[in-house]
Amino acid sequence: MPNLAPPIVQPSLAAIEALPPGISGVTPDALEAWFAAHGEPPFRARQVLDAVWRSGAASPAEVTTLKPSLQAALGDAFRWDTLGDTEVIATEGGLTEKALHRLDDGVAIESVLMRYPSAPGRRERATLCISSQAGCAVGCPFCATGELGFGRDLLTSEILDQVRSAVRRLAAKGRRLTNIVFMGMGEPLLNLDRVLEAVSALNDPARLGLGARQITVSTSGVVPGIRRLTGLGPQFTLAISLHAARDPLRDVLVPLNRRWPVAEVVAAAREHARATGRRISYEVTMIGGVNDTDADSDAIAGILRGQLAHVNLIPMNPVAHTPWTASPMPVIERFADRLRDAGLPTTIRRNRGQEVGAACGQLAAERSGTPAPAAVARRRDRLVASSAAALRGERSREAVPAGIDAGTEANSLPTAPGIAGATRRAAGGGARWHGARGPR
Ligand code: SF4
Repeated sequence: MPNLAPPIVQPSLAAIEALPPGISGVTPDALEAWFAAHGEPPFRARQVLDAVWRSGAASPAEVTTLKPSLQAALGDAFRWDTLGDTEVIATEGGLTEKALHRLDDGVAIESVLMRYPSAPGRRERATLCISSQAGCAVGCPFCATGELGFGRDLLTSEILDQVRSAVRRLAAKGRRLTNIVFMGMGEPLLNLDRVLEAVSALNDPARLGLGARQITVSTSGVVPGIRRLTGLGPQFTLAISLHAARDPLRDVLVPLNRRWPVAEVVAAAREHARATGRRISYEVTMIGGVNDTDADSDAIAGILRGQLAHVNLIPMNPVAHTPWTASPMPVIERFADRLRDAGLPTTIRRNRGQEVGAACGQLAAERSGTPAPAAVARRRDRLVASSAAALRGERSREAVPAGIDAGTEANSLPTAPGIAGATRRAAGGGARWHGARGPR
């Protein structure tokens, strides 16, 4: 899929990595080591972590338990916040907040905070959807991020600072974050080392302390990444962006399917469920006249029947430059009923924040400029032709998107002292998942 809208600024991971590490990505061990090198006792690290994760301190100067010279040294050694600028747009009476974060190289990423008020028998929840990459190499045609193309991987601290931004905004209203989903911009399993470091920090009682079961990591089907996760035995939820169970159609909707076909993805997910005892969440974006037929629901039922699985149906968000729109609600309800009749627990997820472009990448794409009308027309024609061929049962002859295989190689680019050690621990050397604790 051609990139119609270039990123606002050409990203450079090397330039970003040359900057001081973000404080939120630094492990407690690394911080203790830093204080030890400055002749200070280990409890100083605890004071800084409390300030970073609980007090919402905006700078080292607000860590008042430290002497000014230490505050200054901390400020020189670490970036206190890697999000240079954040623009927040609220909608639905403040229930949905879309945040556009500008990183230190000018690249724009997004997070979406959705609040669900309490109801009889249900506590209030606040779910944050975060990005793991700037742009995305997978190029799903119904997704605004896919239109942007791949920019760069996010650093661990850039992933975590999206969370700190939301925690601060919630705390100002007396609220707290209850759930985090890696379903924003990017394919998390193509930036897996850093995503694991981030999950480790979110779950760590000494940092955010969010229960593992309150965290969901989503993938479009990076099979080596799923297998690697299975080896770690995580207690967070794994979500698979399925969208179709027929290969010809999934080749078009999730171009990564040309590399790992749906049967391979589902087999890896089934093994993950068996090894972890955790139910897999399968996401299906419902696109009118494309993937919402009885044949599609039957194909999904056929491939998932009898598995530890849950299906989420999501009406497609309107995305510029595609010929498609969401399936009508009666069609989605019929689809859901057929899945339930086949024994698959199925829910329909309501879209949130369409007025502010809550689908991942929409706001960043809008700010990237408008592609030429001729390019839009070409893209639409190509999608119409490729989906028509898919519905005739023809497999795609297009190549696997560039960057997919490279992204699955072990990516070991720690940026803060001690992070590599944290990853190794999370990667099997005594990984501990804190499932029971909620956020503090
Ligand atoms: S849906 Fe997810 S995997 Fe597909 S292009 Fe968008 S961000 Fe990437």
